[in-house]
Amino acid sequence: MDEVALTIDRVAVDDFLTRNDIPGLVDIHTHFMPQNVLNKVWQYFATPRESMPEWSITYKGSEEERTAALRSLRVERFTSMLYPHRPEMAAWLNAWSAEFAAAHPDCAHTSTFFAEERAVEDVRAALESGAEVFKCHVQVGAFDPTDPHLDKVWGQLAEAGVPVVTHCGSGPEPGPHTGDEPIRQVLSRHPNLTLVIAHMGLTEYEAFLEMAEAYPNVHLDTTMSFTDFSERANPYPRDLLPRLAAIGDKVVLGSDYPNIPYRYPHQLEALEHLELGSAWLRAVCWDNGQRLIGAKA
Ligand SMILES: [Zn+2]
Repeated sequence: MDEVALTIDRVAVDDFLTRNDIPGLVDIHTHFMPQNVLNKVWQYFATPRESMPEWSITYKGSEEERTAALRSLRVERFTSMLYPHRPEMAAWLNAWSAEFAAAHPDCAHTSTFFAEERAVEDVRAALESGAEVFKCHVQVGAFDPTDPHLDKVWGQLAEAGVPVVTHCGSGPEPGPHTGDEPIRQVLSRHPNLTLVIAHMGLTEYEAFLEMAEAYPNVHLDTTMSFTDFSERANPYPRDLLPRLAAIGDKVVLGSDYPNIPYRYPHQLEALEHLELGSAWLRAVCWDNGQRLIGAKA
């Protein structure tokens, strides 16, 4: 890791927090996973594809370096978002992330699941072992959120009130079951689900914003949104900003750290450039995250 660049980052984050009167950062969307899985993710991003511009990973380094760098960026609470791409994998990932959270008390205990027979058992075991947040990746998993195997799972999670960060929008790459319609069906059956829509719902921004407005526990995470990188391909519609301003308690900071093609403070500055004010920024970068994944007293 580039120590000089990290020092510059740190100054930029400090300045951002000071001028907006924010005590620190809670980042609900950061990726820590077994190194062999992370290597595959990095390989995937390094492979040029028509649908996506070149994507260099800014914060490559050992797990220890990545954790230390995130802490130096004033992130006081974060997650280890990980997700299976096939059946019979979730329990292994969950065992890894339980250990990771135990070793890193500032990381919320993160779990995941796949649309398969054993999903109910996997999720029950994860909840019993203290999972504080879940990740569901509809594009990578290529499963239907309305899959009958998941109906009980959504019910378990709704009842537990544990947030589920769900990558369900069609961007940056669509999958067979991405888009707003399946999630709308899930919410109609489980209206109290604490759902955190990743990437502001990229690319179905307005449809997912509507769900955050309509359901009490549906949130949007900011991951990569509003950055130059995302705005080039999928600009967030400016006419939706007044509605975003009105649901400041439903928008929560996420970053995709370490897998981002720019420096971390750019995400914060991109949010600030929306000009929704310091109170909104504080809610997004601190209060809402504390409420969702804050350390239990
Ligand atoms: Zn992500």
